Amino acid sequence: MKELQNRIMIEGVAVNSEILKVDSFVNHQVDPALMLHVGQEFAEHFKNRGITKIATIESSGIAPALMTAQCMQLPLIILKKQPSKVLNDSLYQTQVTSFTKEMSYELSVSSKYISENDHVLIIDDFLANGEAATGAIRLLRKAHATVAGIGVLIEKTFQPGREKLAAQGIEVCALARIRHMEAGHITFAD
Ligand code: 5GP
Repeated sequence: MKELQNRIMIEGVAVNSEILKVDSFVNHQVDPALMLHVGQEFAEHFKNRGITKIATIESSGIAPALMTAQCMQLPLIILKKQPSKVLNDSLYQTQVTSFTKEMSYELSVSSKYISENDHVLIIDDFLANGEAATGAIRLLRKAHATVAGIGVLIEKTFQPGREKLAAQGIEVCALARIRHMEAGHITFAD
């Protein structure tokens, strides 16, 4: 998606060879017009697949996921990061390792909102090592739903996320693919 690539070129900050900051239009300040275009791209890519719900991990995926849900006229499910000691019969839970924060967290979803009748599209901001996406897939499968695919704004192709998801039979749609980064310089894959 050219518009997203341009914004990354102009405003993205490669902190080092692994971490890209997009705080001025995705992660801290959010550009609604760009997010709407992102939602339209995902809606077009994943149309006619029998998708019943959009899911994202709180919090940075919420803006693009909400726009995708609006464009597809579907509900958005926010997978919650909660303390692991919460015991609740109506919650499905799974442990995920965070790439940026170098820590683990418990991801949960209520059985009220996901069931075996759901075919779910996952939307997130970044795909790096694929741990967040794999955790979301595991959680949705625990809830007996099926996963239609995953849409990410930014994929870092030098990290193994896509291979990890392909090995599980999950299709990835990435709107911008970064092949290489170093402080002050970003190279796209396409
Ligand atoms: P993964 O689980 O694929 O390694 O990482 C995915 C999650 O880590 C994303 O949801 C995102 O929040 C965060 N993340 C991974 N790489 C980056 C990055 O380069 N920049 C930012 N801002 N977040 C990232």
